Amino acid sequence: MTAKRVLISGAGVAGPALALGLRRRGFEVTVVERAAELRTGGYKVDVRGSGVVALKRMGVYERARAVDVGMQRITYVKRDGRPIAALPADLLMGRRGDDIEVLRGDLGQILYEESVADAEYVFGDAIAALRDDPGGVEVTFSSGRSGRYDYVVGADGLNSVTRRLAFGESQPTHLGAYISIFSVPNHLRIDREEIMFFRPGRLVFAYAMGPDRPAKVGLTFASPPVGYDRRDIRAQKAMVREAFTGIGWETDRFLASLDAADDFYFDSLAQVELPRWSAGRIVLLGDAGYCPSPASGQGTSLALVGAHVLAQHLGEPGGLEEYERVMRPYVDKNMAIGRKMAKDMVPGGRLAIAFRSYGMRTLKYHPRKEQVIDKILAPMHEAANAITL
Ligand SMILES: Cc1cc2nc3c(=O)[nH]c(=O)nc-3n(C[C@H](O)[C@H](O)[C@H](O)COP(=O)(O)OP(=O)(O)OC[C@H]3O[C@@H](n4cnc5c(N)ncnc54)[C@H](O)[C@@H]3O)c2cc1C
Repeated sequence: MTAKRVLISGAGVAGPALALGLRRRGFEVTVVERAAELRTGGYKVDVRGSGVVALKRMGVYERARAVDVGMQRITYVKRDGRPIAALPADLLMGRRGDDIEVLRGDLGQILYEESVADAEYVFGDAIAALRDDPGGVEVTFSSGRSGRYDYVVGADGLNSVTRRLAFGESQPTHLGAYISIFSVPNHLRIDREEIMFFRPGRLVFAYAMGPDRPAKVGLTFASPPVGYDRRDIRAQKAMVREAFTGIGWETDRFLASLDAADDFYFDSLAQVELPRWSAGRIVLLGDAGYCPSPASGQGTSLALVGAHVLAQHLGEPGGLEEYERVMRPYVDKNMAIGRKMAKDMVPGGRLAIAFRSYGMRTLKYHPRKEQVIDKILAPMHEAANAITL
């Protein structure tokens, strides 16, 4: 019998995780990635609950844990930089047990390294056209190459091309804010700490893994959907500059690094909601199919769990339906968390900021702060564990 050929579009987290899950299952796997090379570093992401279980099942948990970013503290600051309050990072971000926080690119690299011996990786190319015939999917790539596959998996993120080609044009649901993130010199000598500064409709956060490591800055602002050219980085930087100039703390200094930033990320805080994740032999995985938004802190876990479940069912009769049946309740719960967190992420006005600051200050001295935070974060924990692998 000839091996079934699987094409995975995207070598972020979900794509390499699926390639790893399909190892030794008799598939011939190709991963096509638009970027010229594997992206390393990036922003930090949490892996929680069932996402951790998925990493363990893939046999890479210990490697991932070894690159945990080791954040110690989250500090809220005022306009002049004076601290309002600081709390342990694991406590405030709801990390429990074996949960970890790693750079997205570090995790992607581990999954890539563990899967590369059993899969072909093609960088600098992308799917340009798809035709799903009874006998397989005919794929034409941007490079002009073409190939025929038994399955095509779209693991190409929030703005998935596979999704557009197989399911038609549909915009992710905008959750009321835009997020940008980029590296800056660590002039504050931030050491395993995340510093947060809130203004009405604005959130600025900065973190670094050590005083001699560069810092990452995140600038999130509330806004209705605005039309912009995804390829026009200069225009996106101008939008960010306009939204944040003069708001206080170190923000203007961060903005001074904007032009030089070569790792600038900008996107809408958005979710992908689809009634189905597969069409014929084409199936979506991770953010491409069910992005819960960065606000949920659960996108990476969903991508990992999805890869684990899809690897178990791909190639079986009714396998794609089963993947969806198993995943859907877990995804729905995390989508709901994403919508709620997106509302809370950027404060609306001064009152909301005052309330938040007061909460942080009093929580610090609360004798049972662990229990208080646990109670607040209970729905997130429930969602993070809402699937048994
Ligand atoms: C600022 C920020 C903070 C976040 N924080 C968290 C967090 O704390 N916890 C958490 O769980 N998640 C977090 N996330 C979300 C998390 O990064 C994603 O949910 C996760 O990376 C999803 O993985 P993925 O592989 O599905 O998509 P991605 O990681 O987006 O990977 C998609 C890949 O596809 C490639 N690609 C795109 N188009 C094409 C194409 N046409 N052809 C081929 N390749 C293509 C891209 O280059 C990329 O490599 C955060 C995201 C952001 C932006």
